[in-house]
Amino acid sequence: MAQEESAKAKTQTRVVVRNVGLMLSGDLYQPILDADTIVAVDGKIAAIGRQKDVDTEGAKLVIDARGVAVAPGLIDSHVHPVAGDWTPRQNQLGWIDSYLHGGVTSMISAGEVHTPGRPKDLVGLKAMAIFAQRAFQAFRPGGVRIHAGAPVIEQGMVEEDFQDLAAAGVTMLGEVGLGSVKDGATARQMVAWARKHGIQSTIHTGGPSIPGSSLIDKDIVLAADADVIGHINGGHTALPDDQITTLCEKSSRAIEIVHNGNERAGLLALRTAGALQQLHRVILGTDSPAGSGVQPLGIVRLLAMLSSLGNVPAEVAVCFATGNTAKIRNLNCGVIAPGRDATFVFMDKAQHSAGSTLLKSLEAGDLPGIGMVMIDGVVAAQRSRNTPPASRVPEIL
Ligand SMILES: [Zn+2]
Repeated sequence: MAQEESAKAKTQTRVVVRNVGLMLSGDLYQPILDADTIVAVDGKIAAIGRQKDVDTEGAKLVIDARGVAVAPGLIDSHVHPVAGDWTPRQNQLGWIDSYLHGGVTSMISAGEVHTPGRPKDLVGLKAMAIFAQRAFQAFRPGGVRIHAGAPVIEQGMVEEDFQDLAAAGVTMLGEVGLGSVKDGATARQMVAWARKHGIQSTIHTGGPSIPGSSLIDKDIVLAADADVIGHINGGHTALPDDQITTLCEKSSRAIEIVHNGNERAGLLALRTAGALQQLHRVILGTDSPAGSGVQPLGIVRLLAMLSSLGNVPAEVAVCFATGNTAKIRNLNCGVIAPGRDATFVFMDKAQHSAGSTLLKSLEAGDLPGIGMVMIDGVVAAQRSRNTPPASRVPEIL
């Protein structure tokens, strides 16, 4: 037994991150931890604390954070991937790897809707969803984990279709409303079938995003009762203010604010959720690639926007893009706690920001500088090629 344990210890990959200046937990209820050291074993967090209190021996990789902040890797709750690291929407290659340099380590597909020739017959849409789920599980551009395989519901689907999808490994629907189902009653029935079989759902909210899509108003969103009120601030055209506040008040589902939406409406949703003391429902996405393009810094831009104009502390805004999303999406990343994924973004205030610290620079509306990204205990990127340069960057010892 003892021999087995020592053999196991020899094959373990231990990683130590020390000299962390600010530990952002991702947990809304305790966003800042009193800790400067993380120990990870085989890609999972094993211990967090002050260096003198944790066992840092035997590490294969030691990172000196050099006083910068460490947060859970950022999660983009709303993307539209197609195939590998290519998007036909703006015909770009390497877009996901660019988001990694914006601190994003996980992405959630809201439907692979930009696929050229996307099938809309039931066999075809199910096959495409299963293909996307498999393909993105097997291929992680830059190490980014992409949860894809999100079919868009169409008229004529029956409960058995959702049962088949679930049995094949599909865990979520693409945006309800992007297909032929646009009425509340049908959407509600299909969302309920999906939920019964363990498939999560999200719904398009607001005006049409591109020619061919259509308005989904508050009545349809409330009737459908999807798990996520997708882009409550529109994608890009937002609903009238009273409909946005009604959605926050009458629904208990996740309130998703996206970069490619109406910024004023996003701030209204945030303030309404805050007034209701329901900030735990707020999650962030980019809704990209889209007509608005590809935004490698979309999530950090949202953090700066919401914490500078939305009257929430920056450490709380970080939780919207990490722990909140992880909880709603059932992910093991997004929180710095034992047992969670050793997936982190190392940030510092950008060089020459008027803010004196990372948090103050975000609250002043500046973007953070990213100095390193780690996914599952492996360094996935060092100094970001996309953010403004961080004042300090971590060092691999
Ligand atoms: Zn949409």
